[in-house]
Amino acid sequence: MILAVDLGGTHVKLGMVADGVLVDEDRILAPATLRELGAVADLGRRMIATHTGSGVRVTRAGVAVPGVVDPRSGRLTSIHDKYAYLVGFDLPGWATEELGLPVVIENDARAALLGEVEAVRTGGGAAVRDAAIVITGTGIGTAVLADGAPLVGPEGYGGVLGGHFTVDLDGPPCNCGNIGCAEAIGGSWNLAAQVRAVVGWERSTLADAGRDDSMSMAVLFGAAASGDAVATGLADRVVDAWAATAVNLCHAYQPELLIFSGGPMRAAAGRRDALADAVRARLWSSLRRPEVRFAESPEHSVVRGLAVLAERKDAR
Ligand SMILES: [Zn+2]
Repeated sequence: MILAVDLGGTHVKLGMVADGVLVDEDRILAPATLRELGAVADLGRRMIATHTGSGVRVTRAGVAVPGVVDPRSGRLTSIHDKYAYLVGFDLPGWATEELGLPVVIENDARAALLGEVEAVRTGGGAAVRDAAIVITGTGIGTAVLADGAPLVGPEGYGGVLGGHFTVDLDGPPCNCGNIGCAEAIGGSWNLAAQVRAVVGWERSTLADAGRDDSMSMAVLFGAAASGDAVATGLADRVVDAWAATAVNLCHAYQPELLIFSGGPMRAAAGRRDALADAVRARLWSSLRRPEVRFAESPEHSVVRGLAVLAERKDAR
């Protein structure tokens, strides 16, 4: 059995995975400091103890982070949100010591991609050699499988910065230093600010939600579904940003399989067909259209992928 720890934007999700099946899960608010990270280890140890007590052997752990991981050291090189305190921190060493297990550390989107590709294989699908994933959430995570191997690059940046593709030259500034990034439009971290930039938002059904910087995609898509004009306009723009991210990935890497995942994909379930159609319609005309899939369990893509990775890779 493997313990998978997904350090997400708002929550840390922990899962126990046996033979690819998620058998137990728990979550805790994302730690804002290195000190608070201790609570994640406490919960992980409790989960390990519970399953060890029932006779199961927990052999490895995987930890996913929403940032760039140095492929040699397993440490975070760069991140643009609440986990800034992890940059340069010996996360592999910490996790190994705190959990008492060999640990593998990976970028969250890259882990999720491996999990989804593995799910296709075990589901009886043909082996996939070229794939890309777009994971929506607080930001937008991306990853690429090229010629059967995850694209990593010399310092770990390969394929994972798709959320920072420019999709609007007149778009909002991003926290990365660029302007009009996909996730500055299609990630929830900038959603409330975008609501407040729409003329007449105070008279829309988003008048309250738009004042809360932690406004979720579920609120936006819910308001859009009930016909609110401000919400509908912004929801269209968010979906467009997701589509543009996917189109850019396809133009760069020619995946045969394109996967969308992340919690907001449930909230936007009614727009899946429109999203897939938008991607196909905007691709280079002669480019073979990729198969578009939506993760069956978008909240668990990362946890499942970590289990695949921990089983496969020599953990530290
Ligand atoms: Zn950016």
